[in-house]
Amino acid sequence: MIPVTKPFLPPKEDFDQLVAGIWQRNWLTNEGPLSSKLELELKKILGQEHLLFVTNGTIALQLAIRALGLTGEVITTPFSYVATTSSLVWEGCEPVFADIDPLTLNIDPSAIEALITPRTSGILATHVFGNSCDVEAIQEIADRHGLKVIYDGAHAFGVNYKGESIFSYGDISTCSFHATKLFHTIEGGAVMTKDPELLRKMSLFRSFGHTSATSFEGVGINGKNSEFHAAMGLANLNHIPQIIARRKKLSKLYDKWLQGFDCKLPRKQEGATYNYAYYPILLSSEKELKGIIDALNRSDVYPRRYFYPSLSQLDYVNNWPTPRADDAASRILCLPLYHELSEEEVELICRLILREKRYKVGSKKLNLKMPA
Ligand SMILES: *Cc1c(COP(=O)(O)O)cnc(C)c1O
Repeated sequence: MIPVTKPFLPPKEDFDQLVAGIWQRNWLTNEGPLSSKLELELKKILGQEHLLFVTNGTIALQLAIRALGLTGEVITTPFSYVATTSSLVWEGCEPVFADIDPLTLNIDPSAIEALITPRTSGILATHVFGNSCDVEAIQEIADRHGLKVIYDGAHAFGVNYKGESIFSYGDISTCSFHATKLFHTIEGGAVMTKDPELLRKMSLFRSFGHTSATSFEGVGINGKNSEFHAAMGLANLNHIPQIIARRKKLSKLYDKWLQGFDCKLPRKQEGATYNYAYYPILLSSEKELKGIIDALNRSDVYPRRYFYPSLSQLDYVNNWPTPRADDAASRILCLPLYHELSEEEVELICRLILREKRYKVGSKKLNLKMPA
């Protein structure tokens, strides 16, 4: 069976060694030494002054929304994982969907401005599939209208824009360290900001608003993470360069095999690096997409329809018209991509796609030899 993704697991000894320390200290959670070490390492790697390790990427979004005091309407992208929208609704905000750029699949800055009303308090955008948003255009609009900006960077670990971490943009950036993400701590996430006051707020929120054992400042929640999760993160962190290199190699192999097949890849934002977090392809129609999924499933290959349906179609939001996002969502497919995926498996997947395509087109014979 070839799934769309498989979590990376570090050598078990590395994890065991860190866990042995947890047994010695008997300190399991509440900002223990491994959590603090992970935060320090992440700040170094991601070039961040402030970062908090939290329960997951969804809580990270909720902490960010709260810390910025977003209320009323928040302009957001319809093309992302459901947590981008559900976290807004959970925090009592109304998501207002700006359509996407059909080439990058990220929120289209030029669609944002027309949706701003006196009730708009912020913008929540996703660097979808690790592809950087047009952060400059978004910031320019936000500045002009006094709006806060949150970036859902769940897919964007390790991505830089103009030489700076993508997490340095906006008022707050979040990341998810879920097992399916490029860098993971089994479950986990982070919030990052340049503003020490926002950091202080999120830090208070993260542990119930405690300022000491017996005093509180405001309402908080439990957004902490454990020493075991931090241990997994520390063990994984050492392998990030190899993980990205491996994904890059496999992605290039997909590129080679699929050249000539008329699927499109999302266009990368100029000036941004890429982390090869996903391998999404846009098929020509939903019919073709379904044919390809069936063909792959018959051979025990399970790609995923990330992200379908478009979030503006959820039954708990106002269904704003987002034709470009609906169209992309109807024919996007993420092909398997993970560290242990072999070159032969990529070849098999591509041969299955090309063969299915040939049956449907039924005309000229496809050259299935490996392109040079
Ligand atoms: C995974 C993901 C999240 C949620 O992260 P969790 O750690 O699973 O809570 C949020 N936004 C996007 C875009 C995601 O892909």
